[in-house]
Amino acid sequence: MQPGDDIVYLKGVGPSRAKVLAAEAGIHTCGDLLQYFPFRHIDRSQQSTIASLHDENQYVVLQGTVSNMQTASNGPRRERLTVDFSDGTGSLQLVWFQGTKWVREKLKPGVKYTVMGKPTVFNGQWQMTHPELEAAGAATDIHQPFLPVYPTTEKMKHSGLGTRAIARLTETLVGSLGGIDETLPPDVIERYRLLDRREALKAIHYPDSQQQLDAARTRLKFEELFFMQLDYQWAHSERQQHSAGRVFATVGDHFNRFYSEKIPFPLTGAQKRVIREIREDMRSGHQMNRLLQGDVGSGKTLVALMCMLLAIDNGSQACLMAPTEILATQHYNTFLRMLDGLGLGVELLIGSVRPADKKRIKARIAAGETHIVIGTHALIEDDVTFRDLGLVVIDEQHRFGVEQRSKLWAKATPPPHVLVMTATPIPRTLAMTVYGDLDCSVIDELPPGRHPVRTYHRTEPRRPLVFSFLKKQIDAGRQVYVVYPLIHESEKLDLKDLIDGLEMVQSYFPRPQYHVSMLHGGLTAEEKAFEMQRFKEGKTHIMVATTVIEVGVDVPNATVMVIENAEHFGLSQLHQLRGRVGRGAEQSYCILMTKDSLSYSSQERIRTMCSTTDGFQIAEADLRLRGPGDMQGLQQSGVLDLKIASIVDDEPLVAAARNEVRDLLGADPTLSGHPLLLRYIEHSKNKTLWSKIS
Ligand code: ADP
Ligand code: MG
Repeated sequence: MQPGDDIVYLKGVGPSRAKVLAAEAGIHTCGDLLQYFPFRHIDRSQQSTIASLHDENQYVVLQGTVSNMQTASNGPRRERLTVDFSDGTGSLQLVWFQGTKWVREKLKPGVKYTVMGKPTVFNGQWQMTHPELEAAGAATDIHQPFLPVYPTTEKMKHSGLGTRAIARLTETLVGSLGGIDETLPPDVIERYRLLDRREALKAIHYPDSQQQLDAARTRLKFEELFFMQLDYQWAHSERQQHSAGRVFATVGDHFNRFYSEKIPFPLTGAQKRVIREIREDMRSGHQMNRLLQGDVGSGKTLVALMCMLLAIDNGSQACLMAPTEILATQHYNTFLRMLDGLGLGVELLIGSVRPADKKRIKARIAAGETHIVIGTHALIEDDVTFRDLGLVVIDEQHRFGVEQRSKLWAKATPPPHVLVMTATPIPRTLAMTVYGDLDCSVIDELPPGRHPVRTYHRTEPRRPLVFSFLKKQIDAGRQVYVVYPLIHESEKLDLKDLIDGLEMVQSYFPRPQYHVSMLHGGLTAEEKAFEMQRFKEGKTHIMVATTVIEVGVDVPNATVMVIENAEHFGLSQLHQLRGRVGRGAEQSYCILMTKDSLSYSSQERIRTMCSTTDGFQIAEADLRLRGPGDMQGLQQSGVLDLKIASIVDDEPLVAAARNEVRDLLGADPTLSGHPLLLRYIEHSKNKTLWSKIS
């Protein structure tokens, strides 16, 4: 058989099973079946007996007979089928909750069965729920030292396509398969001592030994990651070749004056390095498409501002897009203050600006009188036109969709340089894969004199202690945030939680001595700005808020962040919230309030937060806990379609594949010396979306 052959022609399949294979497992061809990898193997030499069972949840293979079949019904469609299974050394109970009818019809007393699954102890007795089950010793049975176990669905099982049936098919296939060609370059295979493709595809199903199985997995993972990298890096170099960018060659007056007169502190080494990287990009002749990562408080805004000055020195305009009006307003005020006296036109364009003012602002932008525009998505609207937009900076990138970003991109020809800033660090493996075609700059250094925020976990009984600590801080002149999560589907209920919280806080901190204010999504932009301003000026001591304050808010005098119901927040949100404190010279604190008993993953999140303030470590933990399936922005990245490699567990292989592809494309940028790879690229439907994300 050849990989391209229709699966229906494989011995043992036939039309009706072929249909099920296609519908349930996406298997249409022999090649598809070959790539339908087992998720585990059973070492035949390890066959157990019931008497020797000792660990729960360890996969075992048993042989024996069934008796005493019983059905209990707790309501319609809620049947429970139990069967006694014994092998001469003891007995255990097999249990089914689903597909009971089918099992009942199939099981025959006296016949010898092979049963596979994970035993558990229930009421002091061994049992096994939904085991894999086969008549043992049938003529078609598989004679291999390692039995592959395949993922199957209920439908597949009922069509006679349980894991053993699939195993029989793969055994037939592997034995009769031709036409499997090598896909990786020979020198790569050599360097990593990889199994050749044919051997790997055979051994992934039927290895002779554990070592061979490991080698097969490594080879196939590497291959998968290599081609993913080839997609990304090819797209990147295509963009480099085909996207002409404006050339910002000069460092002019504005930049220089700002640098020598306006910055109140020396730049950190990391800030300098990143500005240099961005400058190189903006004068290279290619359009810049760069991701700027830097932990909360690392000083990204200043970097952005200086890059905008470079654009202005080269005759262009620049804009900064922020996710909320609060943030945009805050940036605007910072910019006004820092740029004072440089004679630049700076405008704020947000939804709540009055229509007449909006019109005037837009006219100035179109005429080029405005050099820097700061705004929210109001900037994207079609009637905002620039005389010459040269640089777009997007703050807190994860808040904007791809669509919104590409609209900004279209506001100038050639397209503006794009700098995307994010304070949610991206785990290294992800940066190497998903963002393989974006250039990355990292500010990995905080301004001097910052003390890491100290983080503590507290439960309700200790609230009085927590509040008396807040009192001490406030009496020493500091300010405090108390943040509530959005838990309910309904805004009303969330607001109720918040107001209950506010009342509780107020009862501990009575007027007139203390001032408490409340900030939430239901307020108008003006009300929000008003509350923010009062807090900023120190007129209120405590800000009780929902997560509207999550991103970017900068009040250096605030030193305590209390997060209520902290178990309801994800890691990156907790990290963002904590980043609101620790911005000034004083020691800051983050207190995570939770209920008493927590789920495993909540415990892990809280533990991670208490043990590190390093955003990259937190991002890695987040990826590990949630898996890539739940990470924002990965849905179209291809990472989720990986069949065998894992970006969580295979970091060394990800790095190796990336380096190999980089070297290969460096030496042979057109792939003229690698016709096979070139053909792959031409056929790849996977042309990444990310090449145009910003
Ligand atoms: P983020 O990276 O979270 O956006 P910001 O740009 O808001 O961080 O900077 C946080 C604070 O640090 C601001 O108050 C800013 O003025 C200050 N800051 C930025 N760069 C430096 C520096 N090199 N030295 C001291 N303080 C700095
Ligand atoms: Mg910021």
